[in-house]
Amino acid sequence: MSEPTIKSVRVLTVMGNFEWPIVKVELSNGLVGYGECHRGPGIKEVLRRAEELIRGREVNVEYLLRLVRKHIPNSEWGVVNNAISGLETALWDLKGKLTGLPVYELLGGRVRDRVAVYADLHAGAGITETGGKRWVELASTEVAYNVENYVRRAREAMGMGFRYIKFDVDVPENMMETEFDRTVGMKVVKFVTSFIGGVRDAVKYDVDIMIDGHWAFSVPTALAIARELARYDVFWFEDPVPPENIDAMMEVRLKSPVPIATGEKLYRLSQFRELIGKGATDIIHPDVQRLGGLLEMKKIAYLAEEYYVPVAIHNISSPIGTMANAHVAATIGDFIAIEWHAIDLPWWPDMVREGMIIRDGHIIPPKRPGLGVELNERVAIDHAKDQGEVKEFLQ
Ligand SMILES: [Mg+2]
Repeated sequence: MSEPTIKSVRVLTVMGNFEWPIVKVELSNGLVGYGECHRGPGIKEVLRRAEELIRGREVNVEYLLRLVRKHIPNSEWGVVNNAISGLETALWDLKGKLTGLPVYELLGGRVRDRVAVYADLHAGAGITETGGKRWVELASTEVAYNVENYVRRAREAMGMGFRYIKFDVDVPENMMETEFDRTVGMKVVKFVTSFIGGVRDAVKYDVDIMIDGHWAFSVPTALAIARELARYDVFWFEDPVPPENIDAMMEVRLKSPVPIATGEKLYRLSQFRELIGKGATDIIHPDVQRLGGLLEMKKIAYLAEEYYVPVAIHNISSPIGTMANAHVAATIGDFIAIEWHAIDLPWWPDMVREGMIIRDGHIIPPKRPGLGVELNERVAIDHAKDQGEVKEFLQ
């Protein structure tokens, strides 16, 4: 009996708290695999070209990925890889379903049964990019930047079983003269870090606190913030300066009194080679839905292990991408936690038929074949960005 072959590659962009481009690959025997891409321009075009390249071929992930990379321009780095990442995951899901194995087995097998998750709490109020306005803009500044609300959100996450929580320090943006400035005085530095002091006082050491800077600062401002954060024993200071200049990141890392985490904007093993090889970060924080896929994440994790650099995973995905991250994380030796950004989005769990995949601050990757979760198409369609895409997705 001949092996089933690839029939179609489809994408549906779902409007969650961020855009979630969901990839669906169907085989000639009707089997369906899912993956997810990090949002970005041109994903649909790349996947259309990829479909032309892989249609009619068997599910050999290594071969298909090399084929797509060789024939799609600019696939070495950059946003083309957002699309390739979702495609790659959908192929692993299919390979698992064809062989009867969970994806973590295909990636070498588990070193942990359950994977820790950390809750991104943003500020005293949540944040979303979709729907035109950010939630912090909708919430009053008093609500978003109020220490009681920071503490309330920290306690809420701890009550759900999370052992790691994260807040931002690059807001409120109107504290800068313009949105393009990177340097602020000590009054602002003290203000944005004061909330973290309030949280630490309230929660003591029952939870580790991470801080995100979203590449907002100059080297001197980043270091001023890091020195304040050291008073509160934060677990990491993420993306203190822009990502393109690895030497600047290295300078911050060498002078910062708190550990630095970075990597969510980088692509492929090649960009992580420079970051890790130069010793520019204490912790890597890659985005698997962007960097090139699950196998690429494994290669990066092996490299990081050579330098004793632990791995955490940046994640703003639906449960599809989040579960894919849990499968690869289960196979990584020195792993901290996967991000979860949707504590304020009540229908996040409904995106898959299995319901809530995070319990007690952890994900247990299922032993079922493939990713072990199935897209709830009804929910995805209800929140689709473009109804024209829905028709195509269902074909
Ligand atoms: Mg971040």
